Amino acid sequence: MRATAFGHSAYKCYLSHALLANNATGTTANSCNNQHITCPNGNYTCLELSQPATMNPNDEIASQISSSIKLEVEGKQHGHLSLPHSSNESAWGSVRIPITVIKNGSGPTVTLIAGNHGDEYEGPLALLKLANELNLEDINGRLILLPCLNAPAVASASRLSPIDNKNMNRCFPGDSNGSITDKIADYISTSIIPESDYVLDLHSGGKTLDFIPLAAVHFLADRQLQEKAENAMIAFGAPNSLRMRELDDRGMLDTMVETAGKVFVTTELRGGGTVTRESLQIAETGCRNFLVHTGILQQELVLASTRMLEMPEENCFVVADCHGMLEMCSFLGGPVYKGSVIARVHDFENTGRAPREFIAGRDGILMARHFPGLITPGDCLAVIAEEVPR
Ligand code: ZN
Repeated sequence: MRATAFGHSAYKCYLSHALLANNATGTTANSCNNQHITCPNGNYTCLELSQPATMNPNDEIASQISSSIKLEVEGKQHGHLSLPHSSNESAWGSVRIPITVIKNGSGPTVTLIAGNHGDEYEGPLALLKLANELNLEDINGRLILLPCLNAPAVASASRLSPIDNKNMNRCFPGDSNGSITDKIADYISTSIIPESDYVLDLHSGGKTLDFIPLAAVHFLADRQLQEKAENAMIAFGAPNSLRMRELDDRGMLDTMVETAGKVFVTTELRGGGTVTRESLQIAETGCRNFLVHTGILQQELVLASTRMLEMPEENCFVVADCHGMLEMCSFLGGPVYKGSVIARVHDFENTGRAPREFIAGRDGILMARHFPGLITPGDCLAVIAEEVPR
């Protein structure tokens, strides 16, 4: 059973009175059942700890993340999730993850997440703008906005966290006793997703991939849940809508949310480590459409046609097996044909060598491509999707 910060055994009692009196993070101290004072934000010894700390190895550790906002409070709140992080740069520092919650009435809870990877920009920009633009009277229900979930990765413009070198989207459901990224994932899994009815996780290709702009759902065993997700994906209104299989779905936020039975949609909205006016427009319109679809935003849907795609087989992925300089021979979003040359990889250290040619294993649409000019064995060179009827 999960130990909570406010109903715990003695081992999780950390807060000093000095921190209580000068609480820069806005964390609220609470009395626990043992008459101690505790705080989920603390790394400090509680002065009122009346018995030696004991811990059953089977006990889970309570989350160290504290929130300066309360999910159940009516109104519009801007704040942070705070996680203690002692580093060379800041001895008593913390990681701060921005969060906005707008709650008005009893409608569903919709959670929009971006910055799961730190080098993708459509999602964070769209959600930062939504947090400024939406007012309490616009919402009928509860909206949770997390524009920069992996805040350390966003701050360093990197896919992975610079603190523990972990990929946030391979750390779910997380670990309250793990590294920084594990702890953030655990908090989302235990405190945000259980409260949510719909979850939209905004991604792009980052520095190393470029996608045609698309919203996506997974093939799910639960056909009813998949249909709900597909309806939300279509409402998002990206130029392309994809049913997909992951190469490896372990540790993904997607899998955790879907397993919890919540409606989940994700996106890939271009990439290359930057954002375009067009891709941001798709993100902004799509987020508002998604909220309209869930019923918490009273606004007209901005209808757009979408091309339905699937990735039915493993041969959708083309993987590089050599070093070199990449010459794409197909257009992103354009058709590819089985047996045609998708790309050539040139040996740039020698002249007189024939380039390695990569051949499409199937007909389809070039959905994504490797973005940097150089490529390495194991890199995903291209992804081919198949156009299917709605
Ligand atoms: Zn991503």
